[in-house]
Amino acid sequence: MSRTVYVNGEYLPEEEATVSIFDRGFLMADGVYEVTSVLGGKLIDFPGHAARLERSLAELEMTAPMKAQDLLEVHRELVRRNGIDEGLIYLQITRGNPGDRDFAFPPADTKPTVVLFTQAKPGLAANPTAKVGIKVISIPDIRWGRRDIKTVQLLYPSMAKMAAKKAHVDDAWFVEDGLVTEGTSNNAYIVKGGKIITRDLSNDILHGITRAAVVRFAREAQMDVEERPFTIEEAQGADEAFFTSASAFVMPVIEIDGKAVGTGAPGPVAVRLREIYLDESLKAAV
Ligand code: PLP
Repeated sequence: MSRTVYVNGEYLPEEEATVSIFDRGFLMADGVYEVTSVLGGKLIDFPGHAARLERSLAELEMTAPMKAQDLLEVHRELVRRNGIDEGLIYLQITRGNPGDRDFAFPPADTKPTVVLFTQAKPGLAANPTAKVGIKVISIPDIRWGRRDIKTVQLLYPSMAKMAAKKAHVDDAWFVEDGLVTEGTSNNAYIVKGGKIITRDLSNDILHGITRAAVVRFAREAQMDVEERPFTIEEAQGADEAFFTSASAFVMPVIEIDGKAVGTGAPGPVAVRLREIYLDESLKAAV
């Protein structure tokens, strides 16, 4: 059945939704995005995603096309119209269609392009993969230097996912100057001697909304969290590893570059954090 999607103020069947060939998102990857999960028909961590979107737009000197409250209404309307119980909402805002191709930004009054669509994912919270964990390889991080901005420049992460697929594993962790930055589409963590270690926030990584919540919940549960970079060797020798993202929540990592982490099975800290995250974020869902 066709989805109802949102394009520039209109709710349309997906076959009828179009964007110009001159759109800056299409020609220049000049756009930002957010992915918000839906559980029980409600939005998880919406205020965090709305705040990061605003920051991404500001960093790129793009005008926010609508207020967070209006954006929330569009998200809710799409959930309602598409009957989403568990799934994702993808939002993309580009610098719009200046009517031709030019490297220079178009005039500030050029209307941004706003697109949102839903992806139904029944069983998202009970994802059986979380019970067995996933395997990753490491890969050089050759992305640009503003990874804190959530842009649609996803070619290299796509190539990294394909490299993982070729290596018969699930994902890749990026490494720069000998240190893990993050996963292709997630933030990376290890656990050693009860301490949770994850890279500190900077322009080198995306400031994950799930990361912010998980770090807060871990500290509230009296767990020790250290924000610093780590190497692949340290991760391979850790008791546990995991990653976080809006679509996977907390996901155990059981193998890195062919070496088992800890017992080679999901560890208790990752399992517990997944439970806490799902419980607490569901309570706060809107
Ligand atoms: N890091 C990168 C590169 C990502 O693409 C993502 C999500 O897409 C994340 C981290 C996790 O961020 P969040 O928890 O906000 O989904």
